[in-house]
Amino acid sequence: MLCVSIGRTRHKMMIAEIQEAARRGARFLELRLDFLAKAPDLQRLLAYKPCPLVATVRRQEDGGRWTRNEQERQTLLRLCIASGHFDWVDLETDIADKIPRFGKVKRIVSYHNPREFPKDLEAILQRMNQQDADVLKIAVRAEHPADNVRLLSLPAKSRKPLIPICLGDLGIPSRILAGKFGAPFTYCAFNKERGLAPGILSMEEMIKVYGYERIGKDTQVFAVVGDPIEHSISPVVHNAAFQALGLDCVYIPIRVPKDQLANTLQAFDQIPILGYSVTLPHKETAARLAKEKDELTQLAGSTNTLVRLPDGGFRAVNTDAPAALEALQDKLKSLPGGLQLQDLHILVLGAGGVARALVFALVRAGAHVVVANRTLARAEKLAQDSGCRFVDWNGRYQTKFDVLINCTSVGMFPQVDETPMHHSALQPGQIVFDLVYNPETTLLLREARQRGCHVITGVEMFVRQAALQFRLFTGKQPPLELMDKAARRALSPIRLTEEEDLPEVGTS
Ligand code: NAP
Repeated sequence: MLCVSIGRTRHKMMIAEIQEAARRGARFLELRLDFLAKAPDLQRLLAYKPCPLVATVRRQEDGGRWTRNEQERQTLLRLCIASGHFDWVDLETDIADKIPRFGKVKRIVSYHNPREFPKDLEAILQRMNQQDADVLKIAVRAEHPADNVRLLSLPAKSRKPLIPICLGDLGIPSRILAGKFGAPFTYCAFNKERGLAPGILSMEEMIKVYGYERIGKDTQVFAVVGDPIEHSISPVVHNAAFQALGLDCVYIPIRVPKDQLANTLQAFDQIPILGYSVTLPHKETAARLAKEKDELTQLAGSTNTLVRLPDGGFRAVNTDAPAALEALQDKLKSLPGGLQLQDLHILVLGAGGVARALVFALVRAGAHVVVANRTLARAEKLAQDSGCRFVDWNGRYQTKFDVLINCTSVGMFPQVDETPMHHSALQPGQIVFDLVYNPETTLLLREARQRGCHVITGVEMFVRQAALQFRLFTGKQPPLELMDKAARRALSPIRLTEEEDLPEVGTS
C-alpha cells in the first residue's frame, strides 16, 4: 500500500492536492502539517476527507519544516488525535511515550535521521518495539548503496510492522522494495518538487514506472547501476516490458559511486538482484568482477550487462555492440543497393568503452574501420587490439567514410549544441549513426539529415540493447515496439501528463 504525502505552505493548495490525489486514485494520505505557514485550521483543511489520513508534524532536526516550539507541536499532535479527522498519527520515538493512545487513532512511531546511517540501528529498533505503536518507521540517510539492504532486512527482525526508508538518492531501492520485505506501506510524494523527503519518489513513478502495488515477496528484482543514474531511462523501459508481459519482476535504479561496485553487488546478493544493466563509470569494473564473460566483454574489457549465474557470481554479456550492429544492418537493409558491412568504410569517433566493443564487432564482421579519438593513445591501443586503423582526432577530417559512428559523448544533454564532426564533412548518401540518445536528435544528426545523409539514432540502439538484456534476464521475447515507445516517451522534452493512464492505487 502507498501513503501519498502532501505538504504545502498554504491551506488552499493542500486542499487542492488532497482532492487531486484522491481523484488520481490515492487511498491513503499523509498530511505534512509542518509545511503549513499558518496554524493549521483542521476544520477547513478536512471539510473534504476522501480516504484515511495520517497527521504528521515533522521537526527540522528530523528533516521537517516545523519552526515553532516543541510544546506547540505536541499540542497540535494531541489536537489532531482528538479531532476525529485523522486515522493515523506519526509520533517520533522520543515523544511517543508522552502522548497517550486515544480512540481508534492508530500510531506510527518513527525514528528519523536525515544526517547519517546510525550504527546502532538494531538497538534503536529494539527500543521502538517496546513502545505503543501500530506501525514503526525508520528513515535514515543512506551513506552507501549497501545500506538499503541492511535497512530492508529490519522488518523481518521487528515484532511490529516496520516501514524501512533510506533517505537520499542512494536510498531509492529501499523505497521501491519496501513492500517486498514486509513493510505494511511506504510513502510517495504527490508533488515531488515540494521537498517532502530526500529521495522520495512521486506517486506517478511508484505506480506507473515501478508498479509498487504489484511488488510482493516473490517479485524478481533487476537493476541498473551507475553514477549518475537519475536520468537513466532504463527503469522506464524495462518495467514497461515486464508489466506488458505480466511478469512478476521489477527493475530499480541503484546509484553506485565509483569504487563501490564490488561491495554493492555483494550486498545486493541478499535481495537477490538477478540481473544488472551496467552504465558509467562501472562498465570495466563489472567486466573484471564477472565470473564468466562473453567474447565481446573479453575483447573490449567492458560490459553493460551482468546476469546472475545459478551457482553465484555473474556472467558478463555485452549487448551494446550487437545492438549497434543490428541497428546498422537494419538501416543497410532499408537502403537500395544491397550494401553489406564488408563493403563499408566506417569512421568511428571515440575509443571509450562502447567504441571498443563496437569496433571489435565491426572488424569481425568484415568492415573497414578507422578510429579517431581525442586521446590518441587510446585510439592506437584499440587499433592494435582489434586490427583496425587509427588516425589522430584532426585526422577524422582527412578520412573517407561511408558510415560515421559517433561513440563519443559529444552532443549529449546538456551539451546539446555540440557536435563531434563539422557538418561540412558530411556528404549526401552517407550513413551517420550517433550513439548519444539524449537527446534523440542530436546536432550531428540534425545536420546530417540536412546534408542528405541517412541517420541512425542512439535510441534505436538503446532499445535494442535493452531488448537483448530483457531476453537475457527473462528468457522471453522482448516487446520491442512497446520498449521503443516507452524510451521515446521518457526522453521527450515535453512531459505530457497522462492522468487518464494512471492506474488507481491498489488496482494496478
Ligand atoms: P566512455 O568510455 O567514457 O568514452 C567516452 C568517449 O568520448 C571517449 O572516447 C572520449 O575521448 C570521448 N570524448 C568525451 N568528451 C569528448 C570531447 N569533448 N571531444 C572529443 N571526444 C570526447 O563512454 P562510453 O561508455 O564509451 O559511451 C560513449 C557514448 O555512447 C555516451 O554518450 C553514451 O551515452 C553513449 N552510449 C549509448 C548507448 C546506446 O544504447 N545508444 C549505449 C552505450 C553508450 P577520450 O578518450 O579522449 O577521453
